[in-house]
Amino acid sequence: MGEKKKTTGKRVMILAAVWTLGAVIVLVAVFVLALFLFVKCSAAVADFSLPARDRADYAQRAGNFDGKGFHNERDFQIMLRGASPLDDGIVSGKETVPKDPIPVVRPDFHTALDPGDFSFTWLGHSTLLLRLREMNILFDPILTRLVSPVRFTGVKRFSDPPAAADDLPKIDLLILTHDHYDHLDYQTIRALDGKVERYIVPLGVEHRLRRFGVAPEKITKMAWWEEIAIGSLKIACTPARHFSGRCMLDRDKTLWCSFVLADEKRKIFVSGDTGYDAHFGRIRERYGDFDLVFTDGAQYDPRWPSVHMKPEEAFRAIGDLGAKYAVPIHWGAFRLANHPWDDSAVRLVRAAEGSAVSIITPRIGETVPFNSIERYRQRWYEDVR
Ligand SMILES: [Zn+2]
Ligand SMILES: [Zn+2]
Repeated sequence: MGEKKKTTGKRVMILAAVWTLGAVIVLVAVFVLALFLFVKCSAAVADFSLPARDRADYAQRAGNFDGKGFHNERDFQIMLRGASPLDDGIVSGKETVPKDPIPVVRPDFHTALDPGDFSFTWLGHSTLLLRLREMNILFDPILTRLVSPVRFTGVKRFSDPPAAADDLPKIDLLILTHDHYDHLDYQTIRALDGKVERYIVPLGVEHRLRRFGVAPEKITKMAWWEEIAIGSLKIACTPARHFSGRCMLDRDKTLWCSFVLADEKRKIFVSGDTGYDAHFGRIRERYGDFDLVFTDGAQYDPRWPSVHMKPEEAFRAIGDLGAKYAVPIHWGAFRLANHPWDDSAVRLVRAAEGSAVSIITPRIGETVPFNSIERYRQRWYEDVR
């Protein structure tokens, strides 16, 4: 009897010790993580103890800078309180992440183009490589498997990156639409910087790049409606309806935008992340009808209707821009919202049925020469569960 009591007592003590040890480990882990995030966040915030010179410069160039941060053209709310997360417009019956591997093409960045033609390669999510006028122009490059403030955890990529930084050709222009983690990635920038000639970024994002080790003389910063010319190619930074920041404390300290690329032969528009608004119509008023539009229209949710467009809104935006061809982007790699992984493409294609707009859906990594763009309407995602 006494032996049994002793054994039970021992067991209780061992259990208590294990629990205490477990609790201590969890507490230490939480503390270390909190400390790590605090340090990360302080670094992000430190970028924005803006020198008075920068503040004066932004205020002069950007009507939407109030001395502390940037804002949208009209009332904007990131999260609607009390809204349901259920989108009643969902069409695809698939999961938020594909069950099958997504077919990814290994890109060939050196295919010869017809004289005067240009091409683009969608590298998944919002990463695009344009070959235009003998230049390689790369937008929002993410070539990593994770988007996150930290290296050990984050949103995992569900399709393979089609290329590594080493595979990419020399980049004449690297253009960023804003500083969110799924558009600006430290590892990717570090890996690419050696082959990047020049960066074009919205106001404020130059501080991010400088912290990443990019030489300040390689960076051109732009406000909405500013233009630069490279030969006869005009690059304009144009509005978007979105927000910015890389931690809770640095919201809207940097600008977000869309871009227009125009020369005597063609007009291309890259929407950046954006909600639907009147800016599309005004961009067309200034630049005329577009030949090709790359548009956000994914990662939407009824709780954040101002932040991203639903596919039907993206179709409306394409109409506002007077575009002939449109390519849906901001999908195919990361699950950042609650909708089926291909819902954005399925609905955009459906919305455009019977209209004069052609929705182009190349596979990730596939190079599309503009002269044969009509061939790239295969709906490859239909065969992926
Ligand atoms: Zn964003
Ligand atoms: Zn995004």
